[in-house]
Amino acid sequence: MALLSIVLPAYNEEQNIPNTVEVLSGLLEDNGIEYELVFISDGSGDGTYAEICKAAARNPRIRGAEFSRNFGKEAGIFAGLELATGDAVVVMDCDLQHPPETMLKMWNLWQNGAEIVEGIKTDRGRESLGHKLSAGLFYKIMSKLIKIDMSASSDFKLLDRKVVDVLLSLPERNTFFRALSFWAGFRTATVEYEVQERQFGESKWSFWSLMKYAISNATSFSTFPLQMVTVVGLLAILFSAVIAVQTLVRFLMGDSVEGFTTVILLILIIGGFLMLSLGVIGHYIARIYEEVKGRPKYIISNVTENVRGEVKGSWSKRGNGGN
Ligand code: UDP
Ligand code: MG
Repeated sequence: MALLSIVLPAYNEEQNIPNTVEVLSGLLEDNGIEYELVFISDGSGDGTYAEICKAAARNPRIRGAEFSRNFGKEAGIFAGLELATGDAVVVMDCDLQHPPETMLKMWNLWQNGAEIVEGIKTDRGRESLGHKLSAGLFYKIMSKLIKIDMSASSDFKLLDRKVVDVLLSLPERNTFFRALSFWAGFRTATVEYEVQERQFGESKWSFWSLMKYAISNATSFSTFPLQMVTVVGLLAILFSAVIAVQTLVRFLMGDSVEGFTTVILLILIIGGFLMLSLGVIGHYIARIYEEVKGRPKYIISNVTENVRGEVKGSWSKRGNGGN
């Protein structure tokens, strides 16, 4: 019988874990689906990992790992994919904002041959205006840059084992899970869902963390900003050719341009563009630098009993001879 793994990244979610475990395992057992729940505590400062261990001790189908510090949701998802052993893997938030019933629809679609099932948001749920605006802007920019409509996409999706293996084999460290499944291709189906209210705790995203996420993902998926530098350069050359001719003509006719004002303006404009372009290039160099260092995406400091000895986590995979 096919096994369904559910990957749940959790950061300071101690209040949510017991409830999520109960809801998910109840639902899956009622529907006679063979399952495992894979919790990744993303360097939580509260009792999240202790809750995971408690749940794992009660139910052998629950497995978990803990990061040595907060590595971000993206890392949590990838660690979960690595630990998951199922034939199909669903990634969902552990605050139950992704409705569990939708997961059943995904499972049905998978059984009918879909290799990726994308969860599409019909409604962003109740969020603050600031969050809505910044998330809206983020997706606009992202969709333009990577030429995939991301506005309704989310991290809630089901992946076939094939797809999981493809994603895990990617050597890059700066991943963007949400767009990678589009990039990977495969037979894709979609399910719409309505974002639920968060029951406990609060959202971990601030305006700045969203902006950072946006810039880092945009540049990890597109070289368009780099090409923009070239385009701006070309425009500047065209513009300067026109001005040069005009200046020369006026000079030859004995009527030269007003002195300092022009020079100061030109230096400021050119200087501004140069520094901006250098910044864009610098950003990409920084990304190359990060990739070249080859550090792992995450460090696992602890795994629950039922994982031990089976999957040892990143330290043994990339480490110095392993342990
Ligand atoms: N999360 C995580 N690491 C982080 C931030 C969030 O693993 O650094 C998890 C979090 O525990 C939750 C999911 O990612 O399961 C979504 O986070 P959140 O609910 O804060 O985001 P929102 O639903 O508001 O987009
Ligand atoms: Mg949430």
